[in-house]
Amino acid sequence: MKSIFEKLIAIFSRKPKPRIKKVLICVGHSRMGDKGAVSRGNVSEWAYNQYVAEKLREKLTERSISSTVISETPFKGYHKSCSYLSEQSWGYDCVIELHFNSHTATANGFEYLYCAGSEKGKKLAESFRKIHSEVVPGQKDRGVKAISQGGRGYRFLSKTKPPAAICEPFFGSNAKEWVLYEGMESELAQIYCDALVDYLA
Ligand SMILES: [Zn+2]
Repeated sequence: MKSIFEKLIAIFSRKPKPRIKKVLICVGHSRMGDKGAVSRGNVSEWAYNQYVAEKLREKLTERSISSTVISETPFKGYHKSCSYLSEQSWGYDCVIELHFNSHTATANGFEYLYCAGSEKGKKLAESFRKIHSEVVPGQKDRGVKAISQGGRGYRFLSKTKPPAAICEPFFGSNAKEWVLYEGMESELAQIYCDALVDYLA
């Protein structure tokens, strides 16, 4: 029989179990009355990314990473919506917001945004850019972009507590890119999943 001393030694020499990592997945344009840009195939950013978000959640679960999807915020205004997401983001290891770009018919490529000055945000965005460029080498790599005050998505990136990134994987306004990504929600979610696994390792 083990002595109390031996039992205590056994208890204190146990390795702590690794903490389960948590990702907050925000679908862009989740405010009331906002659906974002509409693709050449007539699909809104919100509709497309809601599906990507669900697929991503499933894939993260398979990799033992916990995640929550927010696809609706109970506000109309951007500022209130960002404050709400900020409150929701406590306790997560990182937060991402899913979008797609829209500009001219020929603008193309993928880019990942982070808050200027956030080293961890930069690392997160870089992880997405790296995996994306490896999986889709034929697509233009627009790089990671530091967003400063007044820039696109700045409030979301700066108000949420954990390191944050905004995903802009293609231009929905470009017919070629839309054809490439239409129906590829699961494959895109796989890129995001691998990037998050990489970042959280
Ligand atoms: Zn958007």
